[in-house]
Amino acid sequence: MKITEKIAKAEADDRDFWSFEYFPPKTEQGVLNLYDRMERMYALGPEFVDVTWGAGGGTSDLTIQICQTAHTVYGLEACMHLTCTNMPREKIDIALREAKEAGIENILALRGDPPRGQSEWTSCDTGFSYATDLVRYIREQYGDHFCIGVAAYPEGHIDTVNKADDLKYLKQKMDAGADYIVTQLFYDTELYIHWYRQVREMGITAPILPGIMPIQSYGGFSRMTFLCKTVVPQAIHDALEPIKNDDKAVKEYGVQLAIEMVKRLREVGIRGFHFYTLNLEKSVRLILEGLEFVAPIEVAKPLPWNPSLSRKRE
Ligand code: FAD
Repeated sequence: MKITEKIAKAEADDRDFWSFEYFPPKTEQGVLNLYDRMERMYALGPEFVDVTWGAGGGTSDLTIQICQTAHTVYGLEACMHLTCTNMPREKIDIALREAKEAGIENILALRGDPPRGQSEWTSCDTGFSYATDLVRYIREQYGDHFCIGVAAYPEGHIDTVNKADDLKYLKQKMDAGADYIVTQLFYDTELYIHWYRQVREMGITAPILPGIMPIQSYGGFSRMTFLCKTVVPQAIHDALEPIKNDDKAVKEYGVQLAIEMVKRLREVGIRGFHFYTLNLEKSVRLILEGLEFVAPIEVAKPLPWNPSLSRKRE
């Protein structure tokens, strides 16, 4: 089923919804562990799961295999990421054909990051330069077969000099045929809400899923926010500083912070949330439990629609 159909159904039912991102592990054992986790996380009721695409297509077979397994074995709706990095047209064609044959109906179309060891992104012969080109190509080749998502950057993409251009390029991706948007991680919720309103004011009505990355460790958080140049409010720095060497306390803080972020987003009417799981299970489960989206039982089950939560919505 297409992600947009699933989102439309959640909206019609007036309920919150969420999705999980995974990446292809490096080892065979890692893949088996991920499958175990996916099986358990099925009980958390994600609307869909998506699997990243390695820069340069390095893990492309595994991305397709994990999506197919999530879909056919675990009954999860799957979305395959696909990037243009080191992907000549012929490789894009193979990936799309294999995705279709594997029963995958959802693609997150991306330009991609530069491959490891390369600082600047360059297109390859017969490849595409921007995600917009890939979105347009998928539509041309496959019509409405795929539901197409694209990435967006509430703080502006790292390569974009004039941040206003990012909104213009996002509009181009939507006009080229994209169906929904997933955002880059962020920690400044007010900044996100400001950007979200700007996107809506531009006339983009497609679903937008905020990307929430629970803090799992101080080192990982510092590295990620440094690489992505993410704005981190002073209050978060202040809260982390005294506990930064206590992994358990950092994780617990990460859970509470994500709960507060989601609550604030709900206040402005946002009901769908995309979790960057980093292939980990516990924090996401605790966040969903803390929000009362799922029941806090050993094998958590999605709660039925909760009218008291809904009434809090603006
Ligand atoms: P684009 O939208 O093409 O934008 C890239 C840059 O070009 C931006 O600076 C933009 O402003 C500029 N631009 C766009 N259109 C034009 C134009 N017409 N003229 C001039 N400039 C233009 N990376 C991976 O390698 N694998 C993944 O699986 C993956 N998953 C991701 C999932 C999400 C939700 C997000 C937010 C990012 C993901 N990334 C992934 C990272 C992403 O590939 C990088 O951020 C990449 O640098 C940009 O990809 P994009 O699709 O947003 O590119």
